[in-house]
Amino acid sequence: GAARVRQLPGGGLAGLLRDGVPPGTVNLAVGTPAFPDTPPELVDAACAALRAGVHQYQDPAGVPALRERIAAGLPAAPDPDTEITVTVGGSEGLCVALLAAVDPGDEVIVLEPCYENFLSAVALAGGRVRPVPLRAPDWSLDPAELAAAMGPRTRAIILNSPSNPTGQLLGHQDLAVIAELCERWDVTVVSDEVYADYVYDGRQHCSAAEVPGLAERSIVVGSFSKSHAISGWRLGFLRAPARWTELLRQIHVATTAGAPAAFQHAAAAVDLHGPGRQQRSAAMAARRDSAVALLRDAGFHCAAPAGGCYVLAGIDGLTDEPSPAFVRTLLQEAGVLLAPATSFFADPRRGERQVRVAFNRPAETLDTARRRLLART
Ligand code: PMP
Repeated sequence: GAARVRQLPGGGLAGLLRDGVPPGTVNLAVGTPAFPDTPPELVDAACAALRAGVHQYQDPAGVPALRERIAAGLPAAPDPDTEITVTVGGSEGLCVALLAAVDPGDEVIVLEPCYENFLSAVALAGGRVRPVPLRAPDWSLDPAELAAAMGPRTRAIILNSPSNPTGQLLGHQDLAVIAELCERWDVTVVSDEVYADYVYDGRQHCSAAEVPGLAERSIVVGSFSKSHAISGWRLGFLRAPARWTELLRQIHVATTAGAPAAFQHAAAAVDLHGPGRQQRSAAMAARRDSAVALLRDAGFHCAAPAGGCYVLAGIDGLTDEPSPAFVRTLLQEAGVLLAPATSFFADPRRGERQVRVAFNRPAETLDTARRRLLART
């Protein structure tokens, strides 16, 4: 096969989805939503769309009514005709963005730890990952480390706020620093904002598309997988300036010819940004609190994530085992599966002292995890 396939990371978490886990396991490893429940009106609308005969290709850029709905929910009023493209999940959006922005050999800055598909998307585009470390416990960005990593070879930077796996947010100040550096080196920004709906403690999500200096060079990746608990529907979007959108749509057409038609119609028929959005976020904040409390009580070290659906926890006080072995031990001894952080680093060894916990789960699941982990200590 092609060399780019060998560049792909090991795919630890995709393996978990494929292989399954022993029955009775409390699986806090993968981010597949088990909470909140999928909005029933979306399910009704999808059935109605199928019964109404929505079975064929649509406008590859996305059903216009859905693009309008997406645009209406975003800051700084994007034009749905020229700045929004519906994609097959954020996963396609990421790959399309990297393919559009990066030539083979170009450097792409990735803030690390990061979502593992950032590494894959860069590899598929033939780019080279330049990791910039974020430091425990709060995983905030050090502007000096970023400045030191950027230069004439930098073609793009991938941002992710709220972050998977850290739950960290990029605030206005971080984004202003990033904007200045990206202007200096003429760098394209791929801003993964798929967790934008989940921001806690009165904080606000700040999109790259609303920051002067960043907006005109940013491709924003969005998704309904987590915000509306429909990860299997494969619905996401790209928001980018018109000249970028033209390029993105060319690649999107060449790779997928469009996202699933009936599901697009369903999402277009429902108020995606209604009060349910705040309710889901408030409920997720409560899950965050439970997850942080159970981890600390069980001897892990973690900062409370400011957003997203994950917490990255240190295992130094608990074990000398590297995280992949420790995760297997926990599975055997407590029936609780966590994700080793090795998937979230360009060099997996850097993730041997942390695990990631997905807390988009029903309260009972988190309670069971708590009982099992505390029984072990
Ligand atoms: N970006 C991030 C940061 C994610 O965590 C995920 C899903 N885990 C995605 C993108 C892609 O999700 P999807 O393709 O389901 O929209």
